[in-house]
Amino acid sequence: MSDPTADLTTAAPEDDLLRRIQATGDGGREVVDAATRTPIGYAPVQTPDELEQAIARARAAQPGWEERGHAERSRLLNAAADAIDAHAEALARLLSREQGKPLNGPNARFEVGACSAWLRTAAATPLEPEIVVDDGTTRAELTYRAIGVVGAIGPWNWPLMITIWQIAAALRMGNTAIVKPSEYTTLSVLALVSVLNDVLPADVLIAVAGDREIGERLAAHPSIGKIMFTGSTRTGRKIVESSAENLARLTLELGGNDAGIVLPSADPKAIAQDLFWGAFINTGQTCAALKRLYVHDSLHDEVVAALAEVAAAMPMGNGLDERSVLGPLQNRAQFEIVSRLVDDAKANGGRVVTGGSPATQLGELFYPITLVTDVTDGVALVDEEQFGPALPIVRYSDVDDAVRSANRLDVGLGASVWGDRDEARRVATRIQAGTVWINSHGGVHPMIPFGGVKGSGYGLEFGVEGLKSVAVPHIVNG
Ligand code: NAD
Repeated sequence: MSDPTADLTTAAPEDDLLRRIQATGDGGREVVDAATRTPIGYAPVQTPDELEQAIARARAAQPGWEERGHAERSRLLNAAADAIDAHAEALARLLSREQGKPLNGPNARFEVGACSAWLRTAAATPLEPEIVVDDGTTRAELTYRAIGVVGAIGPWNWPLMITIWQIAAALRMGNTAIVKPSEYTTLSVLALVSVLNDVLPADVLIAVAGDREIGERLAAHPSIGKIMFTGSTRTGRKIVESSAENLARLTLELGGNDAGIVLPSADPKAIAQDLFWGAFINTGQTCAALKRLYVHDSLHDEVVAALAEVAAAMPMGNGLDERSVLGPLQNRAQFEIVSRLVDDAKANGGRVVTGGSPATQLGELFYPITLVTDVTDGVALVDEEQFGPALPIVRYSDVDDAVRSANRLDVGLGASVWGDRDEARRVATRIQAGTVWINSHGGVHPMIPFGGVKGSGYGLEFGVEGLKSVAVPHIVNG
């Protein structure tokens, strides 16, 4: 095992990336390490004028990019994936420091690996013309064309992977893209874009770093044909409002509060590890994480005990420490949401099985894995998105009640059912969510469409549906 303190003090692989992207002069915003709260560097804060110039450049570059055709664009996307692979460790370390997620476990190295995998799949996915009618008199062919300039506005939890999700299909289809990173994880996204731009032609992909005003202006800009947005439902609504003006098409991947239902046929010990990661991947800061768990009376105590046992074996700490698989909350606002929801659950009769108060011995924004039982629907920890390492576990005795509970909130990103596969599949058909996993939770695949229902947004990413969503249909009839 490596010495984590050595990693923290000697010249690091990410220093070269940081030199490329940091703000110079005094216009930048200080970025701190999520675990240690010590400075990493300065993120640029760009102006509305710089955004205007970037959009003009992306617009000018778009026809040439589209004219290159699918094969050439795919070749360049594969080369961009190679560039990510070549910088993988530097990107993972910078992500780990800025976002807080550990290098190991399903975290920073995993995220960087997913970036190149998604690019390669977007490059390889065929999108054939469709003959929609061919009856001797009418022949109508449907193809998909680039929209123009796509704006990509992202969150801070999986900043690299989500940026790639937003831009891979867009670039493949011949659009150019403007990326607006979250103000919490700007450096990681700028580093990624810089690496991609080692390979891509000029102005096909431009990052503009700034605060929410830059996001607002990007979403409302008349030259933007499509906004790919991943973030909170609140911001999603604002983007819908601005689309009333510019008629930008939208893909909205918004918040969730995914339910998991453990059926009486489940084996608690066999599912505990997957339940754990379903809930606590990225220390719970994941859109489609399991956020409320409904467990049948008959195995409630066994499931809780098995989960607590897994939790006890998972090291939390500084992300650069090779032993860590859980990290801090990324920012104070999120730390306070988690603390408030756990305190409120305790005040409302919740029983803390493990965790339950900040792990300040690890650092300012660490909160331990927290399992809370004896809570019911209506308690804020169950009803609100905690987006952190605290899982409410609710008892049920009738599966119809559990399904009703799963469906009662106004969000529907993911859900899961655990137990006998056939029975679980039958229950899954009754759940209002974009994806219902059986005996797992949250796994995504670059060919399987992903998106939410209800307040979790609309539009699909990944696979053929993902390509279509960043294109406009074009019909030749006759
Ligand atoms: P957020 O909505 O606060 O911010 C997201 C991005 O929007 C940031 O880049 C921000 O600068 C920008 N922004 C803020 N106001 C804007 C405006 N008025 N117009 C345009 N852009 C604006 O979200 P967050 O706190 O960064 O992310 C956490 C949320 O994202 C959680 O609710 C989580 O569930 C959700 N999320 C969803 C998915 C998914 O795939 N569905 C994935 C990750 C996160």
